[in-house]
Amino acid sequence: MSTATVVGGGPNGLAAAITLAQKGIEVTVLEAADTVGGGVRSSTDVLPGLVVDNCAAIHPMAVGSPFVRAARLDRYGLEWRAPEIDCAQPLDGGRAGVLHRSVEQTATGLGADAGLWRTLFAGPSAGFDALGEDIMGPLVRIPAHPLRLARFGAPTVAPASALARAFRTRAGRALFGGVAVHTFRPLHLPLTSAIGLGIVTAGHRYGWPVVAGGSGRLTDAMVAALTDLGGRIETGQRIDTATDLPPADVTLFDLAPPAVARILGDRLPSRVCKSLSAFRFGPGAFKVDFAVAGGVPWTDPNVRRAGTVHLGGDFAEMAATERMIARGEMPERPFVLVGQQYLADPSRSDGDIHPLYAYAHVPNGYSGDATEAIAAQIERFAPGFRDRIVGTAVRSTTEMSRYNANYVGGDICTGAKDIRQLVFGPRPTVHPYDLGLPGMYICSAATPPGPGAHGMCGANAAAAALRHLTHSSATFERSLK
Ligand SMILES: Cc1cc2nc3c(=O)[nH]c(=O)nc-3n(C[C@H](O)[C@H](O)[C@H](O)COP(=O)(O)OP(=O)(O)OC[C@H]3O[C@@H](n4cnc5c(N)ncnc54)[C@H](O)[C@@H]3O)c2cc1C
Repeated sequence: MSTATVVGGGPNGLAAAITLAQKGIEVTVLEAADTVGGGVRSSTDVLPGLVVDNCAAIHPMAVGSPFVRAARLDRYGLEWRAPEIDCAQPLDGGRAGVLHRSVEQTATGLGADAGLWRTLFAGPSAGFDALGEDIMGPLVRIPAHPLRLARFGAPTVAPASALARAFRTRAGRALFGGVAVHTFRPLHLPLTSAIGLGIVTAGHRYGWPVVAGGSGRLTDAMVAALTDLGGRIETGQRIDTATDLPPADVTLFDLAPPAVARILGDRLPSRVCKSLSAFRFGPGAFKVDFAVAGGVPWTDPNVRRAGTVHLGGDFAEMAATERMIARGEMPERPFVLVGQQYLADPSRSDGDIHPLYAYAHVPNGYSGDATEAIAAQIERFAPGFRDRIVGTAVRSTTEMSRYNANYVGGDICTGAKDIRQLVFGPRPTVHPYDLGLPGMYICSAATPPGPGAHGMCGANAAAAALRHLTHSSATFERSLK
């Protein structure tokens, strides 16, 4: 029986392990922390009885992920819960931009921008399952559905600020801007529309659900699936050097590229080692979980029904603040993402005390305290919010990278999504999971299709490892003849 080691037990490490175990490989996952899950864990950090998502919270990419669906994680207890409204972007003195699961309902709410919204999302979301075959893996390859990909792909090349000019309403432009900033890059740069368009397209197909009981239940389901297949998990196992690695036919690293370069060092071809070491990180996230009595008193009633709330004001304001954080400056009013998971999943609350999830975009390694800036952004659109806070738990950029070594400087995307890294991953190659060393692969969110709890980086890297194992055993059998 072939053997595999997976270093790091985030969703991609676990997805890789499950994919290998499904093919009869004997898999061991080695995880540095006391629990697996990486960016997909939950806790009661704010107050006992309140369930908060420590990192990933909202799952438009995971719910429709080919890996998650094929693994039938529902058989291991995974349940999705959808909010009434997927996402809202409140504006000063104006109506919020509102994103519904339905393209038509969203378009209708955007008035003069209805036609543009339909043009951007109706076709791609209807064909998302086929499109997913092309966008949930390496981008540089022959597409399975070239016409569909071309239709979706054309606007993704544009800078978000150029695409924003096509919108005629404040709300439409801001709603698009709020998803575009998920790229954590200045919005005047090429390809900054890509991640936002991808998230919205996936959301129009599958919604923006949360996991019943907390995102950690997604990890629990993956662990149960892996264990069922005979896979093993060892926690408290930090791998620092190649000598820490047990012998295995294939080894997959669910780690940031520089960590892989440090571990494998000069065993790697020097050009690979150089690329991985020079991998660039993006801005950070400063996270605050609040316990709020009676929920948030948002001025706009639609925002009270939204699972996700983007706070950044108009498009121009978000473009300006994202430019600042990329330069290393902390804006007074940073972009803040708020999660109201309890609306879809009331089991997260304790009576009328609700967990409110929030993080601000901040410069990489930001050493200040953004708690007040986050509270002020919420208060801006929900006067009286501060009076309802009954508990707070803070995770700074430093704490974020201590919590999970993959989030260098608080970069929750495991790497800057500049053109080269977005298109290729850690190094310029058409084999983004391959480390140039037989049997060694990288499978973290630094590889295509990038960040998220979808597990597709892991599943794709495992497929590459399986091809290697098949090829090696065929070569071995030929050598015996
Ligand atoms: C605050 C925050 C909010 C987010 N929000 C969302 C969201 O709403 N939706 C979404 O889809 N995604 C979200 N994400 C992103 C998502 O969590 C990540 O993209 C995803 O977890 C990446 O998975 P991964 O398996 O590549 O790596 P990780 O989840 O980062 O896991 C890596 C694992 O490797 C372990 N490890 C690191 N170094 C070593 C070592 N040397 N030896 C052994 N083990 C090691 C770590 O402890 C960790 O368990 C968010 C992330 C954060 C931090």
